[in-house]
Amino acid sequence: MLRICPHCSNTTPNLSELRHIVRVGRFRRKSDGQRVQRYHCTSCSRGFSSATFNDCFRQNKRHFNHRVKMDFVEGVSMRGIARKQNLHRTTVMRKLLHLGLKAKRNLKKTNERLPKVSHVQFDDQETCEQSKCKPLSITLAVEHGTRRILDLKFHNLRPKVP
Ligand SMILES: [Zn+2]
Repeated sequence: MLRICPHCSNTTPNLSELRHIVRVGRFRRKSDGQRVQRYHCTSCSRGFSSATFNDCFRQNKRHFNHRVKMDFVEGVSMRGIARKQNLHRTTVMRKLLHLGLKAKRNLKKTNERLPKVSHVQFDDQETCEQSKCKPLSITLAVEHGTRRILDLKFHNLRPKVP
């Protein structure tokens, strides 16, 4: 498998640069017990692992990601998920941020793969964040006919305090 050092920022490695990356053992990940390969870059003398390039890098409770996602899909509140999964509220919030970024990347990747859109419709929804004192506006750009989401933006509707 091709490995590129994340510290050197070598974007186009050739065969001689690949020799600078050597395997230096494995470790067992604490969260899920999976064995992860360690690598050492001899050109910058820094190390990394095969987990460095993973979406869930530095997550301690990665095995909760799917369960938290399914609870969010069902509409369970963040506090409800924390109670149900026996997690802290902050952990659930971090999982939500992680899942949101992942969903945004997947949406972008899907939209790049599908053909270009000829007709676009805009949809606007007003909702609130946490309480009615924090109104939000969600603007969606969707494809005409299929309703495929192309992009979305959030706007804060709170009046500016001078
Ligand atoms: Zn390096």
